[in-house]
Amino acid sequence: MKHNFGAGPGILPHEVLKQAAQAVVDFNGIGLSILEISHRSPEFEAVLDEAVKLVKEELGVPAGYSVLFLQGGASTQFAMVPYNLLPTGGKAAYVESGVWANKALKEAKFFGDVEVIATAKESNFTHIPKDFTVPADAAYLHLTSNNTIYGTQLHEFPASPVPVVCDMSSDIFSRKINVADFGLIYAGAQKNMGPAGTTLVIVKDEILGKVDRKIPAMFNYQVQVEGGSMYNTPPVFAIYVSMLTLRWLKAKGGVEAIQKENEQKAKVLYEEIDRNPLFKGVCVPEDRSHMNVCFLVENPEHEKPFLKFCEERDIVGIKGHRSAGGFRASIYNALPISSVYVLIDAMREFAEKNK
Ligand code: PLP
Repeated sequence: MKHNFGAGPGILPHEVLKQAAQAVVDFNGIGLSILEISHRSPEFEAVLDEAVKLVKEELGVPAGYSVLFLQGGASTQFAMVPYNLLPTGGKAAYVESGVWANKALKEAKFFGDVEVIATAKESNFTHIPKDFTVPADAAYLHLTSNNTIYGTQLHEFPASPVPVVCDMSSDIFSRKINVADFGLIYAGAQKNMGPAGTTLVIVKDEILGKVDRKIPAMFNYQVQVEGGSMYNTPPVFAIYVSMLTLRWLKAKGGVEAIQKENEQKAKVLYEEIDRNPLFKGVCVPEDRSHMNVCFLVENPEHEKPFLKFCEERDIVGIKGHRSAGGFRASIYNALPISSVYVLIDAMREFAEKNK
């Protein structure tokens, strides 16, 4: 087995993959593949119901919120959020904490005014901008909880006088959150929840239906809520594997237990980055992500040899994003701490050999 530090799609628990593989051949012994069953069958309805129930349980979703499994990735949410929540002539506030936030705000500009109330562009997104005031006349405040590319994370969410919309694609289910603090949360599944192909949306029902533009059905949250994520054929397999992953998470002790593990994984890895003279961290320590650990080599000549050194040890997926360079070790929920120690050992050995 490889040690998969890939950023996205990220690692899935091995037992989940085995169950999913079996379901592709024969789902629950019914003589049909999960890929063949009707989305209106009682078997699939049970899967979707369980997936929704597990999301609610694991995140403590309060009453008054709907849980949706949609398609189109988080990138579709960049447009769907303003389509549904930003009134014509109105304004939305965005914190530009990274590349994904930047993409989100660009989409919002199709629908209304966008006020970028803070940006970390000048530091090449190596810190989280915290010094801002949220305008009380904005329709919503948009945040990105974890910056997958540069490796920063919002460790505390700001107070806001307006509904908070948050892209949690790369840290959902990795730590406790208070859903009641948010108007809408969205996340592409393919980091901590399941395979690419479905997108989780948790929306506070009362914030919907307040814009007067016409919204095509597939982009309309209210239509999706009324259809119970089944306005059209849902991504059956992606939802099934997400449900299995949520079951796995629950069996491990849930978000609270995984948060402790994630904190420990991040701690030991950052300690090595700070201790090892060959490496250095990319982001300011207080905003470092517990999901995507970005680091550089002090001497650029060591970059390719270190990657090769890692590959020889079955460590894969640590090359940094094309726009950030360096290395990025994604330590999502399913990555065991033993893999982190394999990476740490590789860093130590490599440093020893290149003294
Ligand atoms: N937002 C964040 C924070 C991401 O990390 C990503 C992808 O990595 C996206 C949005 C885009 O997600 P998708 O590919 O599902 O559209």
